[in-house]
Amino acid sequence: MEKVIGIDLGTTNSCVAIVEGGTPTVIPNRGGYKTTPSMVAITEAGKRLVGHIAKRQAVTNAENTVYAAKRLIGRKWNTTQVRSALATCPYRIVEGPHDDVRIQLRDKLYSVSEISAMVLQEMKIIAEDYLGHEVRKAVVTVPAYFNDGQRQATKDAGAIAGLDVIRIINEPTAAALAYGFGRNLDRTVAVYDLGGGTFDISILEIGSHGVFKVISTAGDTFLGGEDFDSRIIDWLVKGFQQEHGIDLRQDRMALQRLKDAAEKAKCELSAVRETEINLPFIISSSRNEALHLQRMLSRDELERLCNDLIERTIKICESTLEDSGVSKDDIEDVILVGGMTRVPKVQHMVAGFFGREPCKGVHPDEVVALGAAIQGSALLDEQQEMVLLDVTPHTLGIMVVGGFFEPLIPQNTTVPTSSSKTFTTVRDNQTAVKILVLQGESQRAEQNELLGEFILTDLRRAAKGQVEIDVTFEINADGIVSVQAKDLETGRQQSITVTASSGLTQDEITSMIDEAKTHAVDRRATEAFEGTRQEAEKLMGDIERLFPQVEQIVSGSDFGRDAIEKARGVLDRARSLIERKDVEGLKEQLEALGRTQRMFKGVIAKTG
Ligand code: AMP
Repeated sequence: MEKVIGIDLGTTNSCVAIVEGGTPTVIPNRGGYKTTPSMVAITEAGKRLVGHIAKRQAVTNAENTVYAAKRLIGRKWNTTQVRSALATCPYRIVEGPHDDVRIQLRDKLYSVSEISAMVLQEMKIIAEDYLGHEVRKAVVTVPAYFNDGQRQATKDAGAIAGLDVIRIINEPTAAALAYGFGRNLDRTVAVYDLGGGTFDISILEIGSHGVFKVISTAGDTFLGGEDFDSRIIDWLVKGFQQEHGIDLRQDRMALQRLKDAAEKAKCELSAVRETEINLPFIISSSRNEALHLQRMLSRDELERLCNDLIERTIKICESTLEDSGVSKDDIEDVILVGGMTRVPKVQHMVAGFFGREPCKGVHPDEVVALGAAIQGSALLDEQQEMVLLDVTPHTLGIMVVGGFFEPLIPQNTTVPTSSSKTFTTVRDNQTAVKILVLQGESQRAEQNELLGEFILTDLRRAAKGQVEIDVTFEINADGIVSVQAKDLETGRQQSITVTASSGLTQDEITSMIDEAKTHAVDRRATEAFEGTRQEAEKLMGDIERLFPQVEQIVSGSDFGRDAIEKARGVLDRARSLIERKDVEGLKEQLEALGRTQRMFKGVIAKTG
């Protein structure tokens, strides 16, 4: 039977899984890691890098390295979320031709779907390397709170990557599927999902006959680990400013190093109570002295810095429970998803809120991809008894006279679903109506998101209120919306599938698919060792070239001599790994080489 892969396309990391012999399994990438950074870069030579290899060079190529593209996918240019990304991202975000967002890497503009497609293509290749044959079908997950535009743009990304996305499912639902798979459970569960960029909470009923029914879902697509990292960066920048009177934010390279260090410290503090943040030669003073950043961060301090962020997630949990009419006592299990749920304070506050310890034994990084794979195999295999009943996260409706929003499908309705309402003309002899399709919770139309619009023309002439128009909304199992308007008298009708919102036309998608194909060929031809060796040798060359100069600058201090000694060790080890053709070891060594190269470049930039 044809294989279908499940892909968790994460803000920070992505993960791919498959069901083999009835067992869902995560597929490791070539480096042996079960998750791959959702990062994409274009090198000076125009080469495309995806995953760990892109992450490693992010500091020295910040402008041409995209991370957290998921925060931008399917968004319109004129939104606060895009404004906020413009202010904080080191890569260039520009306005696209359809009021959408494009990203400039080197001299080329990419749509966000294209960037995500590169990550999806990487996941496809990981699966194909493992299986030894081509894979075409996939189930891809999205946050439950993603709107129609974001879902459509994710589907487009799949098509560009050469995947037939047979279903888009919500991440928390996928997590519940993996949790309940094969266990014959009958219970109500909450899935608390805090990832790199987004937060979701869902309440589900798992029925003993393989029925998974979402009761309600809510979230915030701009609340996640990155916000925790930002708090640490702010704290470091402020401290440095007080000590040295220098604003580290003015220096792109320093900022990227701060970002790396902040995330690393945050993760370490999940295991230890205190950690040191140490960034030598971060910037130079006005007198051209190299300055270092060295600070201890405690878990208590981190919790103080980020407490309100965790509280925001708890408030959302509270309102979701209220909306769903389920009481806390009815929740029989709490499933934690997303890397951020490793933070002890998050676990503690979630346990406090629900009045029970979250369940163990579910791997927060892998559970979503596993659920997607389970759903994929169930869709292809009719023998499998599993029904997934998801809900629409937003209310859908149209604009009516006075600028009001008239709902047709309320929030948290089980999908697929459809609903009709009859409207009338508002003027005498009105021959056309414009249907504005909107999504959101405000009573005012303009405060909701516009999904699309169309005009129904040639209505029969009559007094106002006499012509009746039937509007039908339909949401398919992917959560994608189509709308139809019909003149009840003449039977004349117009309909749209809301597709324009991803910001790409069909022609654009087709040409991107073609381009991605050539890249797939390009990628698969690369031999693992050769690629890694070249990457390592480039870094080693840089370090060797800068060595004499750096040595001269820093050898005046113990700190500097120590750094030089370490750099020598890093080079020696890399040489011996190349000699032994140890590709795995060399891959790991790339990180140390990258760090040394950045530090060397930093020293030269700050002092010379
Ligand atoms: P995800 O989107 O689920 O891959 O989650 C990624 C987020 O989880 C990032 O912000 C990571 O920094 C964060 N993360 C991963 N591991 C840990 C950890 N051990 N402690 C704290 N945060 C973590």
